[in-house]
This record gives sequence, C-alpha cells and structure tokens, in this order.
Amino acid sequence: MRLLSRVGHLANSLLRNPFEVASGGSERLSTSAAATRDLLGARTAKRDLVDAARSRIGRHLERRFRRYVAWLQGQGYAFASCEEWPLRLDTRRAYLRYDVHVRDLLGAFVLAQLHEELQIPGSFQICWEHSRAEAEASDLFLKLQAFDSRFVQFGFHCSPESSWIIWERHKGRSEGLEKFAASGAACAMIGDWLSAFEHQGHDAPLLVNARERAEEQLAHAARSFRRHFGPAKTISGHGTPLGAAYLDAVEAEPRLAPLGRYLHAVEFLTPERVQRHGFAGEITRFDEDALPGPPIMFENPISEMAQAYRQRLSGSAGFVVLFHPATWTSDHFQPFIEAVTARDS
Ligand SMILES: [Zn+2]
Repeated sequence: MRLLSRVGHLANSLLRNPFEVASGGSERLSTSAAATRDLLGARTAKRDLVDAARSRIGRHLERRFRRYVAWLQGQGYAFASCEEWPLRLDTRRAYLRYDVHVRDLLGAFVLAQLHEELQIPGSFQICWEHSRAEAEASDLFLKLQAFDSRFVQFGFHCSPESSWIIWERHKGRSEGLEKFAASGAACAMIGDWLSAFEHQGHDAPLLVNARERAEEQLAHAARSFRRHFGPAKTISGHGTPLGAAYLDAVEAEPRLAPLGRYLHAVEFLTPERVQRHGFAGEITRFDEDALPGPPIMFENPISEMAQAYRQRLSGSAGFVVLFHPATWTSDHFQPFIEAVTARDS
C-alpha cells in the first residue's frame, strides 16, 4: 500500500502541475507557437538560436540556473545522464529532466546551451507529435540537436492514451480534448468505461478498443520520434486534461482505479509496455526506496521544495528533477534558489 500511495501521489503531482495542464501561466513569458517560429524558425546556427532566445528571456534564467548547479555540486552531487539506465538513486546523483512542449522552446535553447557549457547532461523530453501544435513545431524541436549530444540528450514525452483521442476525434486539436474534459463529456465516458469494466473486466470491447488505439498511437509516435532523434532509452508521461479529469473522478470514486491504465499517461506507460516499444524506462514513477525524501522533485509546491531537497540530501540519495523550461523563464524558482544558495552568496 505504501508503494501504491507514493506512486499515486507522484503521478498526481505530475498531472496536477498547473504548468503541465494549463495552456499558459500568467507569470511566465508568453511564447505562442507563432512568436517562437518568428524568432527561431529561420535560424540554424547554435549561437544564433541561443542569442535569439536569450534576447527574449533576459539573463535571470542563466544566473539562477548557474547558482542551482553550483549549489548541488557544492553538496557533492554529480549530474548524471538519464540515458545511462538504470538510474542510480542510491547515491549523490542528480538527473535533470526537462519536459519540452512548444511553449518551453525558448527556455530549452538557453538551458541546452548552459548544459553544454557546464558539461553536465540533461534529458530533454520532447513532446513529439502529441497534437497538431507539436507536429507543426517539429522543425523547431529538432533544432535542439545542434548541441553537444553528450550534454543535451533526448527522450520521448507523450500521453498515447490521450493523444489518439485528440487525433481521431478532434482532428489533432488539443483544444478539443480540453473542451471534452471541461464539458463533462470525459466524465460521462469514464462512467461508461467503468460500467463496461464492471461487467466484462479488461476484456470489455470499449476498453480493448481504447487500449489498442493508445498502443497504435504509441507505436506510431515512438517510431517517428526515433527516426528523428535516434535510439532514446527514456520515455515520460505527459499530463493532459483527460488525465486530470480521471484523477478528480477517482478521488471521488475509488472503483475507477483500474481505469487509470486507460486514462493516465504514467499508468499507461508501464515498464512492460515501454520495453516492448524499445524504451528502458519511464522517468516519473520510481519504486519507494528506504532513503529519505522524494526520488523525484516536482516544480510545485514551491514552498515545500527546499524541504524536499533537504530531506533527500540528508540521506545522500539521488533524484530526478522534473523541470519545464518555461518555468525557468519566470520567477517561479527565485524564492527556492535564494533560500538554498543563500549561504554561498
Ligand atoms: Zn508534459
């Protein structure tokens, strides 16, 4: 039970992260796909891409990120590669993971440059062909390959269980899924799935269909991702409005729990499933270990972040850090950076 509750807590943190689910945070740099394309679309040289992104973002990100890295190094931590599977969370290693959506691109170029300059690996998890918006920005994501592959590495960020619905029922428009969830239609579908499950279990035709379509979506998008980014070992679940609707529903009705595998990216991406598609592992959900503090650091709640690190560091334990590059372009981390690095400055 302890394991299940930790897993549930972690996955819920991912899907409820307002920066993951919401279409835009008010305090963050506003970067529409069109503005990002105007800025970066015609540029190919690494220096050019970084200068352009930096001109829009300013220098805060860089200054804070350098402080964060120096602080962890000062605590005896080494930055390790998520691609060197299995991750070692029993020792002083930090694995930085960035979930890169279209709105994250500007921050991603500046962070990629910092990883290259500081010679520390970072895993850029690319939200590839999730919906039409990502497909139309594919050339922009690919420009991140301009950086040194020892330090700027790639994984596949996805939610096949939602993505097939976006492509098949909403013509590739993710707003269609947002409306589907907001209108209550998603809840009605979840109710139908529950009654199907209670009559026929996982063999119910509605569920077999959902599972098969999500599998096809995963196979298709993973193949495309590999064609463009090469043989990545890591995959990560992307939070969607459907996943959030499921989490709200299961909180009120625990009988829905077996449906998580059809509605929730992290639950869908089981070890067996991702291995069948050639990935070594999903990098959001980790087994409970005996060490203090969480094995993965989320962006929220920011007020608890310093405490989470303190606990984990006290056990000399490793961890994955989930960042959105767009969050680094805001002031979100400032109180945390100030608090943890105060003694050094
Ligand atoms: Zn995501």
